[in-house]
Amino acid sequence: MKKIVIAIDGHASCGKSTFAKRIAQQMGYLYVDSGAMYRAITLALLRRNAIVDGQIDTNILTQVLDNCTVSFRLNADTHLPETLLNGEVVEHEIRTPQVAAHVSQVAALPEVRQLMVRQQQLLGEQKGIVMDGRDIGTAVFPNAELKIFMTAEPRIRAQRRLLEMQAKGETMSLEQVLASVVERDRIDENREHSPLRRANDAVLLDNSNLTVEQQMEWVMRIIAERTAPKHNCC
Ligand code: C5P
Repeated sequence: MKKIVIAIDGHASCGKSTFAKRIAQQMGYLYVDSGAMYRAITLALLRRNAIVDGQIDTNILTQVLDNCTVSFRLNADTHLPETLLNGEVVEHEIRTPQVAAHVSQVAALPEVRQLMVRQQQLLGEQKGIVMDGRDIGTAVFPNAELKIFMTAEPRIRAQRRLLEMQAKGETMSLEQVLASVVERDRIDENREHSPLRRANDAVLLDNSNLTVEQQMEWVMRIIAERTAPKHNCC
């Protein structure tokens, strides 16, 4: 079976990474969470107090981009991928509300995007990869064999996110989570560089009322079509 690139884009908190991880597991593909890369850079900036009153210190940004390496590895116990910033595991720290509140601003910077996109393209050179994010089908892998654009109703996304946060012992109201999700989408869709949009050739998946199993059944049928050898007639 030929190996393909699967690009998954979509709105915040609509289950992209759960879906992408499941596909990668089932196909034996590499899974890359591109959002984790933007989150790790944001964490590095916050640790250096480089974001004050919504302003990002450009000198510190240059230093961070020159000196930060974001990588991934599989946790030996959980068998789940985790994100490393300069070799340090930051998987939990990059998921805090503080990082979430600043990541879209950081991800809108062209110098940040340039560096991340280059690294992401290198990871996909051998194909056999599932990557999720906001510009994967439009900017990172415009020739991906399968592009999926995911969405769900904002309130449903906020409810799912709230449950995840409560499981981690974090307290926020549904309205606060909803506001954060909607604000991230607004910034992502309206930024100048690589805004979040559905690629013309992306298939749409609104999973507001679908279970993960139903989504898997749907996607595996499409993958089977896209990976099937092409027969030349005559
Ligand atoms: O996917 P996740 O919600 O972790 O992404 C965090 C943020 O990183 C997004 O809200 C978006 O601003 C940014 N991002 C991006 N391009 C990507 C992936 C994420 O701009 N490919």
